[in-house]
Amino acid sequence: MTVSPHRGADFEQAARALAGASKAIALTGAGVSVPSGIPDFRSATGLWLRYPPAEYATLSAFRADPAKVWRMFAELERMLQRPPNPAHRALATLEAEGGLAGIVTQNIDGLHQRAGSRTVIEYHGSPATFTCLACGAGYTLAEVLPLERPPRCPAPAPGGRCGQLLKPDVVLFDEQIPGRALAASEALVRDVDLMLIVGTSCEVYPAAELPRRVRRQGGLLIELNLAPAAGLDPDVLVRGDCAVTLPRLLEGWRQARGRPGGAAP
Ligand SMILES: [Zn+2]
Repeated sequence: MTVSPHRGADFEQAARALAGASKAIALTGAGVSVPSGIPDFRSATGLWLRYPPAEYATLSAFRADPAKVWRMFAELERMLQRPPNPAHRALATLEAEGGLAGIVTQNIDGLHQRAGSRTVIEYHGSPATFTCLACGAGYTLAEVLPLERPPRCPAPAPGGRCGQLLKPDVVLFDEQIPGRALAASEALVRDVDLMLIVGTSCEVYPAAELPRRVRRQGGLLIELNLAPAAGLDPDVLVRGDCAVTLPRLLEGWRQARGRPGGAAP
């Protein structure tokens, strides 16, 4: 399959490939949440311009000045309130109708889950849950909201309360991708013969390794991006805003799977 210069042909190719796949997954990045009003962290209006990562987004910065870093954490928390957009909803529908086995996302905003996606692996964690840096106790956002900021662990400890810092479960720059996310994505990517790559330039490892892995397994790569990711060389490239292109792909998939050559529903 080659990249076609005709946009309509790209959609048809992508839809037919998706309908013929036995196990498809999606890899998503910042671009899928831009239509929800969350600018790419790396963009000119993104989070890192206001909160330089070296100053804010490391565990050592948080330990050194919890109140300062909590200002950034509060912004991450507010992202959880943004509305999912048609791209999130199209992926959730595709999963519900049997066309997608799951999503690996580099986003932390929880919008895939809010849109209804069920299998979502969050490589960079989530600000919706919290862990005590001292005793390891875990908390939900609802449990942490009533606490003073920066919140301290309310778990009982010998001689009183634990009282140590709680940190949102987002993966900071000096932290590792959670082992359970890596293990879950390892299990999900097995036998995948098609990957949708949505709103990511595939530059950050280890997520960037996943498309290469799918290709080594003989799978197809369908890229849906505003601008092509450097070095990805997809089988089909669908350029454009994913809030427009993903719903259109969903429609094409519904039609293609009913046709000869497409997978029977
Ligand atoms: Zn604690």
